[in-house]
Amino acid sequence: MKGAVVFPGEHKLGVISDVPEPKLESPTGVKLRVLQVGVCATDREIASFVFGTPPPGFQYLVMGHEGFAEIVQTGPEATNLQPGDLVVPTVRRPCDDPACIPCRHDRADFCLTGGYREHGILGLHGFMTEFVVDEARYMRKVPVAIRDAAVLVEPLTIAEKAFIQAGQIQMRLPWNKPAAHALVVGAGPVGLLGAMALRVRGCQVTVYSREREPDPRAEITRAIGANYVSSQDRTPEQMAAGIGNIDLVYEATGNAQVAFSLLNVLGRNGIFIFTGVPGAHAPEGIDIGSLITNMTLKNQCLLATVNAGNDAFDRAIADLTEFCTRWPDAVRGLITGRFKLEQFETPMGVTAGIKNIIEMAS
Ligand SMILES: [Zn+2]
Ligand SMILES: [Zn+2]
Repeated sequence: MKGAVVFPGEHKLGVISDVPEPKLESPTGVKLRVLQVGVCATDREIASFVFGTPPPGFQYLVMGHEGFAEIVQTGPEATNLQPGDLVVPTVRRPCDDPACIPCRHDRADFCLTGGYREHGILGLHGFMTEFVVDEARYMRKVPVAIRDAAVLVEPLTIAEKAFIQAGQIQMRLPWNKPAAHALVVGAGPVGLLGAMALRVRGCQVTVYSREREPDPRAEITRAIGANYVSSQDRTPEQMAAGIGNIDLVYEATGNAQVAFSLLNVLGRNGIFIFTGVPGAHAPEGIDIGSLITNMTLKNQCLLATVNAGNDAFDRAIADLTEFCTRWPDAVRGLITGRFKLEQFETPMGVTAGIKNIIEMAS
């Protein structure tokens, strides 16, 4: 089979045509034909050899973790799926440690040992290839109605897991809460999908991002009934002055300096959600003492989240179906670049546009 691969040892990228086609052997397994794969910052880092681990016995890793596929074959015990079904596979697979309670409860996103594997990232081939074999229980079924948008399910699961967790944490406030004021920082795909998820929850949403209007990110923001503020025009304090108590901040830039500067505008009893992985940076001019004092006096929570479980995937599929009904043009506007498999290195090198995808088959 053809596959877009990275050779981490040799610092090489390319499309090869001799990836072994996987055979369906498990009675509870399924075989997928991959339709589309999204590209994100994680892929760009793997393509620049920052991380990415091939499966045992391979010199290369097939890339891609944001998959969308069609079932072509099912094992005799995979009775919940049939050929022709559209699915999004989850990304992480459990570790083998019998003592890892999260993995033994199918919550590898909370794995305790770090021995988990991830398609297209860590120890398992990804989805930028023709066929994939996997267990049926890792497939989340997608309605035909959102076929054109389903490649956005995986990046939306970041927000869905965050908001499921935030909702549970904010149960600490023992009264019926009115619709929250939410701030989304960063208008990339993770930020804009998060903004949409907050809008369907009835939140008033402000998206705060670098780009100045006119910009397609700002247009999408306004189309979903949210407010857009450019960080080039307003400081965080100026932006927050026009909002009320900010109950939730969803940080989707992965920039440590930006994240810390926004902690100051989080309101009383609020929750601040980190989703980025900025790596080692020392934010400049941060007074840690004032930060902790401020957080304590305002009863604030910090939540950081990675990966997602089945509940977040199912919620993402339901929400994306709702987004496609409410804002079809805005959802369509998120996918700004479509590439053939042979062209996969182009979106690995540039960050232009909002979401780039690889078209595997149609
Ligand atoms: Zn991704
Ligand atoms: Zn585990």
